[in-house]
Amino acid sequence: MPLKIYLAGKLVDEADAKISVFDHGFLYGDGVFEGIRVYGGKAFLLDEHITRLYESALAIRLEIPLSKSEMTDAVNQTIAANDIGEGYVRLIVSRGAGTLGLDIRRTSDPQVIVIADTITLYPPEMYRDGLKVITASTIRNHAAALSPRIKSLNYLNNILAKIEATDSGCIEALMLNAQGEVAECTGDNIFIVKNGILKTPPPEAGILEGITRAAVIGLAKQAGLTVEESAMVRHDIFVADECFLTGTAAEVIPVVSLDGRTIGDGKPGPVTKDLLERFQELKSGR
Ligand code: PMP
Repeated sequence: MPLKIYLAGKLVDEADAKISVFDHGFLYGDGVFEGIRVYGGKAFLLDEHITRLYESALAIRLEIPLSKSEMTDAVNQTIAANDIGEGYVRLIVSRGAGTLGLDIRRTSDPQVIVIADTITLYPPEMYRDGLKVITASTIRNHAAALSPRIKSLNYLNNILAKIEATDSGCIEALMLNAQGEVAECTGDNIFIVKNGILKTPPPEAGILEGITRAAVIGLAKQAGLTVEESAMVRHDIFVADECFLTGTAAEVIPVVSLDGRTIGDGKPGPVTKDLLERFQELKSGR
């Protein structure tokens, strides 16, 4: 069944969902987006995603032509129109059509697009056995150049690192920042467990502040774990007891090796498994 896409305030057939080739989102990656999971027909942590979308837009001086509650309605309408039970929503706001120059004053009509579709999940054995990850040579964008806290349509930094991952037969790559500290993966945040303490790089390390990351930090605190957001280097991962990634698509996924070096005992650890279980409960509303 062709999808119904929310575009210019209406739900249109996928074949009719078209935007201008002069849209600065297309010409320059000038826009912002969100990826949201749908569980049981409901957008998961929708308020958090909407908040981040508007903050990303503010950071690039893009005025979104809808209020937050209109945006929430647009997402919910699109999920319902496509009858998505378990799936994924891509919410996009682009700068709108302009000239071939960079001047945003010559653009008009920012486009709000909502796509709700089914999702291809990572195979279950990756959750059971854990991922092997490599470190990309591509460093994460310097926060003073283009802050990773902005979820912008320009994902080339991550794409280049993802190419390195796939070239090495991995689905994710670790990205370091300009100081050589651990930042995050191409589409996931990273956590380690060391001596019972959960650790993850802070926003200042140059990361996207993941919605799943925040949810998992909350679950860990509920479970009585100490959580530290502090700078870490690759050595900390090599000597960690456990490691896992979080993200909207991946949820919580164990990592068992980095650059060919086994982490912990090479199997998903007890803290990771517990948090994975708690996350499954959270998403199913228990
Ligand atoms: N880092 C990057 C670079 C991302 O693109 C994403 C989202 N796919 C994440 C982390 C995880 O964020 P979230 O939990 O909000 O999906």
